[in-house]
Formats: sequence, C-alpha cells, structure tokens
Amino acid sequence: MTAPPDAGAPAEENWFDRPMRWAQLTLVENDPGRYDVRFWLDYFREIRADAACLSAGGCVAYYPTDIPLHYRSRFLGDGDAFGELYAGCRRLGMNVIARTDPHAVHDDVYAAHPDWIMVTEDGRPRRHWADPELWVTCALGPYNFEFMTEVTREIVRRYPVDGVFSNRWTGHGTCYCVHCRRRFKDATGHDLPRGDDRRSPAYRAYLGWSQDRLFELWDVWDAAVRAAVPHARFIPNAGGAHGKLDMVRIGEKSEILFADRQARRGLMPGWANGRNGKEFRATLGRKPIGGIFSVGVEERARWKDSVQSPAELRLFVADGVANGLRPWFTKFCGMIYDPRWLQPVADMYRMYDAWEPYLRNEAPLARVGLVYSQQTWNHYGAEHAETQVEDHTRGMYHALVEARVPFEMVHDGLLDEAHLTPFKTLLLPNIAALSDAQCRQLRAFVGRGGGLVATHETSLYDEWGERREDFGLGDLFGARYAGGIEGPMQNAYLAVRRDPVTRGFHPLVCGLEDAGRIINGRHRVKAETTAPLPYAPLTLIESYPDLPMEMVWPRVPDSDLPQVYARRHGEGRVVYFPWDIDRTFWEVLSVDHGRLLANAVRWATDEEPPVTVTGSGVLDVTVWEQRRSMTVHLVNLTNPMMMKGPVRELIPVGEQVVRLRLPAGREVAGVKLLRAGVAPEVRAERGALTVRVPSVLEHEVVAVDFRA
Ligand SMILES: [Zn+2]
Repeated sequence: MTAPPDAGAPAEENWFDRPMRWAQLTLVENDPGRYDVRFWLDYFREIRADAACLSAGGCVAYYPTDIPLHYRSRFLGDGDAFGELYAGCRRLGMNVIARTDPHAVHDDVYAAHPDWIMVTEDGRPRRHWADPELWVTCALGPYNFEFMTEVTREIVRRYPVDGVFSNRWTGHGTCYCVHCRRRFKDATGHDLPRGDDRRSPAYRAYLGWSQDRLFELWDVWDAAVRAAVPHARFIPNAGGAHGKLDMVRIGEKSEILFADRQARRGLMPGWANGRNGKEFRATLGRKPIGGIFSVGVEERARWKDSVQSPAELRLFVADGVANGLRPWFTKFCGMIYDPRWLQPVADMYRMYDAWEPYLRNEAPLARVGLVYSQQTWNHYGAEHAETQVEDHTRGMYHALVEARVPFEMVHDGLLDEAHLTPFKTLLLPNIAALSDAQCRQLRAFVGRGGGLVATHETSLYDEWGERREDFGLGDLFGARYAGGIEGPMQNAYLAVRRDPVTRGFHPLVCGLEDAGRIINGRHRVKAETTAPLPYAPLTLIESYPDLPMEMVWPRVPDSDLPQVYARRHGEGRVVYFPWDIDRTFWEVLSVDHGRLLANAVRWATDEEPPVTVTGSGVLDVTVWEQRRSMTVHLVNLTNPMMMKGPVRELIPVGEQVVRLRLPAGREVAGVKLLRAGVAPEVRAERGALTVRVPSVLEHEVVAVDFRA
C-alpha cells in the first residue's frame, strides 16, 4: 500500500522551525467511524494551526497495518482513520507527525512473546495499572528495538510524515525481564538494582546503562524514519530537569522537541509552563520547542475527557509563549463531550498567529542564568530530590519572577565559556553536586567578570553526590565547611547589621534597614570565613526555645557568624548564603527572603538590566530579540489562584512602566503593544526606551521594530 493519493507533498528539509501552532488529536480506539473528521479539519483550519500530531500506531493501530500482533482498532473496519486525517492536514498545508505509543499491549502479544513484557522486581509480568486487559511492555528489549521499529518503518513508508513522535517509550521503572537482566549484567557486571537505594553502585550503573540503551533506541527509530523520509525525524517525548535522560545529549540530538507538562496540578504556580520553555531551551538553544497543553484537567484522577476554565488555559499558554514555547494543544478522543475549550483555544491561536513575526525569537536578552543540575537531582537529591533540590529551584525561580528579573535556565553540563557568554550572573540554588571541572568553569566565569549567587550546600559534593572535605567553590565563597548541617532550625533569626565603619548598610540588605532582625531559614551549613570579611550584613541569631512562652528569649543575643558572604573577585562578584534561603522562601514566602534574593542578584550582576518593569502586581517578564525587532512580554500572574489553579477569571493590572535597553547598533522604527493594538506613549533616550503600558490582562507584548 502507498500513501493516500490525495496526500500533500512532504514538507521540505528543515521544516522544524516552520510550525508555530500545533494541534494534537489522540484518537481513542472507538473513534474511527464515530467521530467527525470534517469537524476536526475545519477546526484546525479555523484556528490557523500549522502542524498536527496524529495517532498512528503502537498500542492501537489506526491504519490498516500488515504487521502481525500490531493491534488494529476493532472499530477501524476497512477504514484508515490516521490516513484520512493525515491527508486532510496535508491538504491544509500542515506539517504532520505520527504519534506512536509502545507502552501497552494485549494478551495476544504476551502469549506470543512473553519476553516482551515488563517484569517487576518480584519476577511477575506487569499488568497495566490502569487497564487490566493490557500488559506493560519492556522498553529496553526486543519489543521496542524490533517490533516497534517495524511499526515505525511501516507508518513512515505508507505516510510520508515529517516525524514520528513516541509517547511513553522510556519504560515504567526498572524492568527485570530476561533481556534486561542479561544485558545489564553483560554491560556492567552488576545485577539489576533492587530496593530503593538510589546511592548503590548498581543503581548508578543502571542510570547510565538504561540511558545509553534509550539513546540507542532513539537512533534505531530515527534511522528507520529517515530511511523512508530523509527530512523526517524520530521525536521522543522526553526531556526536563527531572527526566532520566541527559538534557545535554537530548539537546544535541534533537532538531525539535516538545515539553509535555500539560497543565497545572496540585500546588503549582502560574509560571510553571514558562519554566518548561527555559528548562528545555537551556540545552536546545535556538531550536524550536513545543509546549504541550491539555484542554482538560490534569490531576491525579486523570479526568481525560474534562475541560479547563478558559482563564486557566489562557494564562498557562500565555506564560509558555512568553517563554519561547510554541503552543501545542492536546485533545484526547475525537468525540467532544464538553466543547467549552474550543473557543478559548481558537482565540489564542488566532491571536498568536497575528503576532507570529514577533514570536519568532532569535535569542533571549536575559543576563541572569538559573542553573539546574540533573546530577544533583539524581545523585545528591535521590529520594529526597523534591525537597533538597526542587524546592530550592522553585524558591529561587519565584523570587526572580516577583523581582521581575528576566532570566534563563542553564544546564550544569554546559558551563563552558561559549554557553555562558550571554550571561552576567549565574544562580546556584543548592547545586550541591559539582565536579572539579565544573567548579573550574564557574571560577573562570567569575574571573571573566561574572556574578555568582550560591546557596546552602552548593559544591559541597562531587558529581556523584559524594561529600567533599570542603566546598568546591570555597575560594569564591571566601568560606570553608566547618562540619555539619544544622536543622531543621526552629525559631532562629538573622541580625541585619550596619557597616561598623561607614554606619551604612550593604546593598544586599536594601529595604531591610529598619528590620533589626529577620527570620532565618530552616537549615544552615556550618561554615566559617577563610578571608576577613570587611563586614557581614547578616549574622546568626541561634535558635532558641519556642515554648513555653516564658522561655522564648535568645540565649545568645547575637553572634558574629556571617550568614551571607558577599565578595568581589576582580570584576566578578560572588554572594554565598550558607543556609536554605531559596527553599525556605518556597516554603514560607517571606517577603524579606524574596528581597534578599533579589538584592543579591542585583548586586552580583552590577549592571543595568535589559528591562525594568515598574508597577503593581506579579508579572513574568521576558525579553527577546527577533531578526528585525525586540519584544518584552508581560504575563500577568496577579490572581488569587496564582499558586494553585485553576484561575477563575483574568484580572487586569494597572499601568506598567517598561524601561528597556536597546541592543547595540539597533535603530528604532516603531513601538507597539500587540495586545492593545495601539502605539503606546514612548520616551526615548540614548540606548533605551521607556514605554507606558496602560494595563495587562493576561499577556501583553511591547514590540519594538528596528530599521533593517
Ligand atoms: Zn526488560
């Protein structure tokens, strides 16, 4: 069988950068013959979607497959649901990628190839946790490497898609099948790790081996795709700071990638989707990144046929777009039980279509980089990574958003000079596990005049999470490890001190001059100074009893122990907080801690920021350069549901004054507000513009056009 006769011509080479608005329809088994294909194609056209991801095969085949054991939808009949949608999308001029999902199979597969099924630690083949008629497959053995390779090959030969996107292809925990046991032993000499000791040598070896095996699978599938359609790629559903695959390798291998974090759930701040953009871009750079968002609620009960509030959809997507993601809506099931998502998605897509030239970003202009570290997550954090790693990052991230500092994220595997050139300051929120080589790179960064803000146990462990004798960055901190971590501390404080000579305050404690003392964090690294500090703006007031009330008085009223080390190294500046200021900020959201973090970033950066936004409210501020323009995105997160969705309504904030620095050598041709659709009041001075934005609903963009 060949491609359907009315299929459009395959897109050209390097199609990856073309699509700006993705549509995903994930069919369910009984969709074929039931759902309205015409409706969907009309909708794609009306909303100006320019690329589609469509269900093809794997768990269920939506085309007449000839591969034995490739389960064909019982409702397919003589039809070709995938082929029909594929051809329709091509007629609309859309790029198309085929979706496969290899993670689940039926009984016939188990009967024919029991060794294709995942085996749990107790030696039993694994039934599917959600659908007991299905089995969970082994990701690292012949099922994926052979059978799914055949499936991939068949799809791409019949339908010349631009890519194959595979979902849930990396496995679901350690598999103890015969293939995994044998291969792992042969490769590493270890038996598969058992129990949950994430620090055992076998577990560490498994992390490396399973990762290599998945990258190998990626290559096998990619070769199968390219053999049929040279411009097409295998595109894994993968990535992120907590993923098991190394983001640096992912960034190198990918031409395009999609961040699959579909909505807010539980306690999650309004900037969550923007973070996806930053996290992926850290290793993908200029390459296009899609931001997958669900039209439905993504909570633990997995109401897959639900619909989110229009305001929540808009805010989630706005923050993604402002952070460089290209929106991708995903809808499960071709039947529409609740149509209330259709209009908000259509409105957004039309708006972003109109803004398209200004969303084709060439580079962010942010000067601050927030470092994340997969090795810190895996080897230092391990089973405690959520609190010991992630909560530090969240706190630092939130402080930056509140301070309206435009920033990027930086992968700790890319600390070389070329990757750090755009940045003036790096933030290390308890980046505990750093190799000697990484410490050298950070030292060189400061040597080139860079700023550093580090917290808590940063650099106290090597890349494997093994404790060092002393900080790897102790020379920059001007502090040594004095042995031990105190905490959780109850009722501990910090004294805010004047410079004993000048009687003035350090810029680090700007805004806290009248405080006297502020609350401490929950944990502190016992550290001591290695070089005399001219003055310590924050010193420790030790924990003292918080009950009975009669006993609540400081046993030692004050100490001279510095709780922040701020030092200059040539042109570079380093601030080290030996306590968990960022994690505590996430827990307590103390205004004082937010202010300290913002002050530290400002002092360490020591230059005029690319953009300053003045006005009330909480805004996520990003700043970008395009070929012939620059943009400042203002995403208004000011909402009673900012820290936990869903947002009920969008609430405008009042006037914001945006002062932006113009990139060198650029001449301004015009300024407009994309959402308001008007030319704002602008004041120009040498190298800078001040723009008045009367109001922001959820998303406004200040767009500055440059002369050619
Ligand atoms: Zn296996």
